[in-house]
Amino acid sequence: MNTHLNWWAQRTQRLIFLWPFRDRRLYLWAALVGLVVAVLITLVWLAGRYEASQVQATLERDTGDAVNDIRSKLMRDVQELQALHANFTSTSAWGPAAIGLLREHRDWLRVEWRDAQWRERAAADSPLRAPSFFKTPRSNAQNEIVQACQRARRSSGPAYSSSYFLPQVDGLGMEVMDLCLPTVDTGGRVEFAVITYSLQEIMTEHLGQTFGRRNEVSIIEPDGTRLAIIGNHGRGVRIFSAQQLLDLPGLTLLLRMEGRRGAPDLFPNVLTALVTVMSIALVSVLVLLVKDSRRRLKAERDLADALAFRKAMEDSLVTGLRARDLQGRITYVNPAFCQMVGFEPAELLGQKTPMPYWPPEMVGEYQQRLAIRLAGNTPPREGYESVFVHKDGTRISVLIIEAPLINVLGKQTGWMSAFLDISEQRRVEEMSRTSQERLQASARLATVGEMASLLSHELNQPLAAIASYAAGSLNLLRDQQVHTAAQTLVDLNLALRRIAEQAGRAGKIINSVHDFVRRRDQDRESVGPKALIDAIMPLVNLQARKLQIKVITKLDDKLHTVWCDRTMVEQVLLNLARNGMQAMDGPDCADRHLLIQVRRAASNENKQWVEFSVADLGCGISEEVARQLFTPFFTTKPEGMGLGLSLCRTVIEQHGGHLAFDAHTPRGTVFRFTLPVPDLRETH
Ligand code: ADP
Repeated sequence: MNTHLNWWAQRTQRLIFLWPFRDRRLYLWAALVGLVVAVLITLVWLAGRYEASQVQATLERDTGDAVNDIRSKLMRDVQELQALHANFTSTSAWGPAAIGLLREHRDWLRVEWRDAQWRERAAADSPLRAPSFFKTPRSNAQNEIVQACQRARRSSGPAYSSSYFLPQVDGLGMEVMDLCLPTVDTGGRVEFAVITYSLQEIMTEHLGQTFGRRNEVSIIEPDGTRLAIIGNHGRGVRIFSAQQLLDLPGLTLLLRMEGRRGAPDLFPNVLTALVTVMSIALVSVLVLLVKDSRRRLKAERDLADALAFRKAMEDSLVTGLRARDLQGRITYVNPAFCQMVGFEPAELLGQKTPMPYWPPEMVGEYQQRLAIRLAGNTPPREGYESVFVHKDGTRISVLIIEAPLINVLGKQTGWMSAFLDISEQRRVEEMSRTSQERLQASARLATVGEMASLLSHELNQPLAAIASYAAGSLNLLRDQQVHTAAQTLVDLNLALRRIAEQAGRAGKIINSVHDFVRRRDQDRESVGPKALIDAIMPLVNLQARKLQIKVITKLDDKLHTVWCDRTMVEQVLLNLARNGMQAMDGPDCADRHLLIQVRRAASNENKQWVEFSVADLGCGISEEVARQLFTPFFTTKPEGMGLGLSLCRTVIEQHGGHLAFDAHTPRGTVFRFTLPVPDLRETH
């Protein structure tokens, strides 16, 4: 009961103890999943941002390149213009050379040669298009040219005018700007060479192929006015834009490049996609792991419960359990076993023979028994008894039930033994045996007491005979003159012999009773049935003579000996014979015969039996008496003790036999009991 309560307490404690851990584990898992999701989102976002910044950087770089392209192109133009003026000093030669240059440069609209007062000395329009200043007179732009050339003269280098709109014949127009380059004529006077550029053409010619394909490139003024534009920024969700200063002498413009991209794409490139896929895989694995760990946790819990239950069971068992390996070493002991032998598990585990709880004098025998067991001999299923010594020195009787220990693979790994402490049982048995013996002894004494009267009656005869012989002898001696001396001697001799005979008879009678009371052979032995009958006959005859009963004994030929406690069985026979004779002691009982018979009985379970029967022709047993016949202290006789039959049955059953009674024909009762024929296996 106590152990059971303990087990429950432990279990509840364990559950209470585990709760916070379960919650904590749940939080940990949630945190882990949250972290992975956060990392995943951050990763995708960073990858998107990286991609966008890459696009932006490319655009910035392209814008820078475009600005550089335009700048270097304008530088080259300046050089070509210088070369034109250096090589062609006469206006007649200058004209065709200028036309030649205009043909090469689509973005040049017009080339002019102006003197120090900005008057036009020579001019050539681009042959590739209609003259640009057809609709608007050139003088309209005089102001811009003058400003540019004044700056050019001041800086002695090329200078650009601010841009201005030039309407065209087709109704459209274009933004243009002028480049003014100061030159020196042969006479050392300052003159100017002017190129009118179409901003749109500059872009188309020099950026269209390279940057205009994917972007929209425009030249804008610092105030945001768009002057020229090329390209198309295509389709896309997000517009990236970059702009750079196009700083020219006298003119500051901005070059803006705009590109539309598919950003933010969720998976901008393979790497991000790969990382994302891997992260998804990671999350999936995580989920699987969570599931698996939950399953494991459940299995673990079930296992722990099962283990706790098994442990509780083992701990609360009163049966000692011990496991040994194939070498005879102890591999497991339960608390009940430790309690039984008084040793701690640590003192027993791994212990080899001789075991500390073996009685020292039995070590040899137990070693032998162990060797037989280890050789593979299966022990008896019903177990066997043994004696152990408790650590405190007390002896304990144990019943050992052993079985091979078979593992899950069906292989024998050792021996498992269960121990039952039967010391108390043995003590009780011993007590009941001694009290039984005492009872039997008193019953025997009672029988003897009963027989004392018979004895006195029986002894009367020899004693009377002795007395009369003695008296006769004395008479002979007194009357010596009547007989001759020789005759007297003969008579005396006879009388004395008779006296001796009668004294011997009386002695025998007393001895037979003495023997019966004194003899107490504890052990069973092999006894012939005749010897048993002969032993009780003198006592039976005592009573028989008194009651005038004829005792007949009948024994089969070639009877087996019986395996019994001789004194006990003799007492049983005597009891039955006495009961039979007493039953015939009535006035209505004319035929007074007591038949004591011994014969072979039917054998069973490979055991042979001998049957004894005592039959009388007495009053018989009524049904009421029959019901209580074997009840101790039941008697119908005034001087009876009522112990005889109950003891008889106990004795016979202790021998493995059976006592029964039946009605006897024509009248009376027959009592039968069986005794075993000695078994060779038991006797040796
Ligand atoms: P006790 O002889 O001291 O009475 P027993 O146990 O031997 O005790 O017998 C119990 C009773 O059984 C007897 O009192 C008697 O009535 C009855 N009994 C025993 N044997 C016979 C028999 N052979 N015939 C009739 N009655 C018997």
